[in-house]
Amino acid sequence: MSELSEPRPLRELTTLAVGGAPERMLQADDAEELVDLLTELWADDEPWTVLGGGSNTLAADDGIEGAVVLMRTRGIERVDEPDSVLLRVQAGENWDALVAHTVETGLTGIEALSGIPGSVGAAPIQNIGAYGQELSSVLESVELLDYESGERVRVPATELELGYRSSVLKRHGGEPAAREAVVLSVDLRLAPAEDGLSRPVAYSQLARALDVELGDRVPLEQVREAVLALRSSKGMVLDAADRDTHSAGSFFTNPIVTDQLARTLPAEAPRWPLATADAADTVLPLDGSAGTEIPPLAADAEPQLVKLSAAWLIERASIPRGFALPGSRAGISTKHTLALTNRGGATADDIASLARFVQSRVQAEFGILLRPEPVLLGIEL
Ligand SMILES: Cc1cc2nc3c(=O)[nH]c(=O)nc-3n(C[C@H](O)[C@H](O)[C@H](O)COP(=O)(O)OP(=O)(O)OC[C@H]3O[C@@H](n4cnc5c(N)ncnc54)[C@H](O)[C@@H]3O)c2cc1C
Repeated sequence: MSELSEPRPLRELTTLAVGGAPERMLQADDAEELVDLLTELWADDEPWTVLGGGSNTLAADDGIEGAVVLMRTRGIERVDEPDSVLLRVQAGENWDALVAHTVETGLTGIEALSGIPGSVGAAPIQNIGAYGQELSSVLESVELLDYESGERVRVPATELELGYRSSVLKRHGGEPAAREAVVLSVDLRLAPAEDGLSRPVAYSQLARALDVELGDRVPLEQVREAVLALRSSKGMVLDAADRDTHSAGSFFTNPIVTDQLARTLPAEAPRWPLATADAADTVLPLDGSAGTEIPPLAADAEPQLVKLSAAWLIERASIPRGFALPGSRAGISTKHTLALTNRGGATADDIASLARFVQSRVQAEFGILLRPEPVLLGIEL
C-alpha cells in the first residue's frame, strides 16, 4: 500500500480527461493491502471511492472530497474443471487484456466484450455488455469487502441484481450504491472453445461484419478482431489519437418506458418491447437503427415495458454528431450521438453542461429524461 505524496488530478486518470485532485490518493497493489487500507479509511469515517481505469467516471474539477483508492491489484488463477474453466481474476487487472488472454488460450464467453476499457473489478458494477454478450452470462461470483459489515465475503452473481448497465453495487446519479462494497476479485465461468469456435454470434451488426448468420460460430480471434474493428469505427476503443475516444463510452442509457409512452413517439422510433425481465439486457445499436414496431394497445392489455434508443432520441431532438455548445471544449462524438467527448482541454463543467443540454432537449421534445451511464463524482446532472 502506498499513499501518493501529491494526489494526481482525476483528469490524468479518467478517459474523459476531466476532474481535479482528491484530498488523498492511495494505491493498493495486492488484495491484503487493499483490505487493510479500506478498513482503516472506513474506521476513520473518511469519504472514499475506488477508481479502476476511470472509463466510466465523470469527476468534478474543483477537488474531490476524501480519498480515492487506485485499484492496482493483479493476478489470474485458472481452475480446469471437466467441462469448463474457472478464472479468478483480481480487480485491478485490465479487462481487455483479460479478454485477449481468454481468446489466446481458447476460452469462450467474453470474446464479444473485446475492447471495453477499464478494470476487471468494475465490470460487474454496471454489468458491462456489448455485441450480444454481457458479463452476467459468465460471472459466477465476486469477492467483496462489504462496507456495512467490514467483512470479506464471496457473493454469488445472482445476488448482485445484474441488469442493463446496473447492479446493486453501482452508484447511480451520485447516490450511494444499494450495497456499498469493493470488488476484490471476480470468478468467471468460461468454456473451452470447441474447435476454436466462439459462442453463437448474437448481434446482427457483428454477424454482418463477419459475413455469417446470427447463431453461427466462428473462430474466436475473428470475433475479437471484428468487434475491435466495429468499436474503433465508432470511437469506442481507447485511442489517444482519436478525440472521439476521450469519452466515457455511451453517456446515456437507453430509456425503458411504458408502452403507452412509447406510443406517443413517431412511428419510426426504434423500440424493443421487453417481454421478459431478461430482455431488458438487450444491447441496442449506437446508430439508432430501427427496432420492432409496437402494435396498437388493446383496451385490456397489461402495461408493458419498452426499451428506446437514446441515440435516436438525441438525433431527433436536433442534436447532431459533432455538436458543441458555443465556446465549450466538450462535444458530441463525431461518430455517434451517444458519446460526450472532451475535444481537448474541456472542464467537467463543459461535459456536464453538454449533458444537461442534451437531457433538456430530449425531455422537451419527447418527455423522456435520459439518465447518465457514468458514475458522477462531485457532480449532479
Ligand atoms: C471508449 C469507451 C467505450 C466503452 N464501451 C462500453 C461498452 O461497450 N459496454 C459497457 O458496458 N461499458 C462501456 N464503457 C464504459 C466502461 O468502460 C465500463 O463501465 C468499465 O467497466 C469501467 O471500468 P473502469 O475500471 O474504468 O471504471 P471506473 O471509471 O474506474 O469506475 C467506475 C465506477 O465503478 C467503481 N469501481 C471501480 N472498480 C471497482 C471495484 N473494484 N469495486 C467496487 N467499485 C468499483 C468506481 O468507484 C466508479 O463508481 C466504455 C467506456 C469508454 C471510455
